[in-house]
Amino acid sequence: MIELKRSVRNLKPYFVNQVPYRVKMDANETKNYLLDQEALFEKIEANIYPDSDATVLRQKMADYYGCGQNNIMVGNGSSDMINLVINGFCETDDSVLSFTPSFSMYETYCDMAGARLVKLGSNGDFSVELDELIDKAREIMPKIVIICNPNNPTGYYIEKKDVIRALDQIKDSIIILDEAYIDFGGESCVDLVDQYENLIVMRTLSKAFGLAALRVGCMITNEAMVNKLWAIKSPYNLNAISQYYGTMALDRSSEVTAFVEEIAIHREKLAAKLKALDFEVYPSKANFIFVKHNRHDLFEQLCERGILIRKMPMGQVSYYRISVGTLEENEILIKELEEIL
Ligand SMILES: *Cc1c(COP(=O)(O)O)cnc(C)c1O
Repeated sequence: MIELKRSVRNLKPYFVNQVPYRVKMDANETKNYLLDQEALFEKIEANIYPDSDATVLRQKMADYYGCGQNNIMVGNGSSDMINLVINGFCETDDSVLSFTPSFSMYETYCDMAGARLVKLGSNGDFSVELDELIDKAREIMPKIVIICNPNNPTGYYIEKKDVIRALDQIKDSIIILDEAYIDFGGESCVDLVDQYENLIVMRTLSKAFGLAALRVGCMITNEAMVNKLWAIKSPYNLNAISQYYGTMALDRSSEVTAFVEEIAIHREKLAAKLKALDFEVYPSKANFIFVKHNRHDLFEQLCERGILIRKMPMGQVSYYRISVGTLEENEILIKELEEIL
């Protein structure tokens, strides 16, 4: 057997829990409230390649995100775009700097590029010190700095003025600002992409727009950067169905505001109930809650009862990430937890 290259040889496949479930709270999905499921598949010319430039979708995104169409490149989920940037910029042995814990795919993409992900620890409460990030960037001169805001899995949110402080200090690295969850109430930095030539913001329709199955994500950056990266983008990298329905969902973006407000209310209610069940709950600005509990078997116990959450053990300590569901789903979770505990 011919082996994969050394930098990726020992990677484990991304784990997706494929068991039957009643309630799915393990992948930060939301309900689909923007598309008429029945209408799927009309109007797609299956024999014709999709628009390689995704012109219509990018124009709609530009309207929604408040930037120019030429500031946007769309991809097969924003993961695809994160991969493109890391692999486009990193030579073998370059370093990439990010906080930990954070989105696990950053490391996989670094490994694919042969780059080294340097992880800067968070505080005990999972807040982070941007000054440490700035100092570390000065010290190791990474090719890329990745800031996930709000952070997955912790939900920790960095205020915009602090992100700006980092942007003002880190000039010699590309800065990927992963805003997959910013729609849930944080302040986006998309408006800064023309001011900072090294800033690339990642956005997605997978979370607040409830379109995870369609894989519509994008990067937003200055035009020169888009043009540079266009040369390594696969042609037709976003299929016609996703382009079409992504556009339709953006037409209804006014409904997103109400939806994210609803999620925030459910999140705080759920957090209060989890606290009452002896969970340590970390503050979150996203559609999930990061928690700690002294029971180590909650993932397995809930799984048996048809409820999927994400377990994230760190050392001997059991942390869990729970996506905020609908009112009914959250109630089912709490009821089952009450029985287990
Ligand atoms: C979900 C997620 C993404 C991207 O999701 P796509 O479906 O690929 O757009 C990116 N970053 C973080 C931190 C996420 O949690």
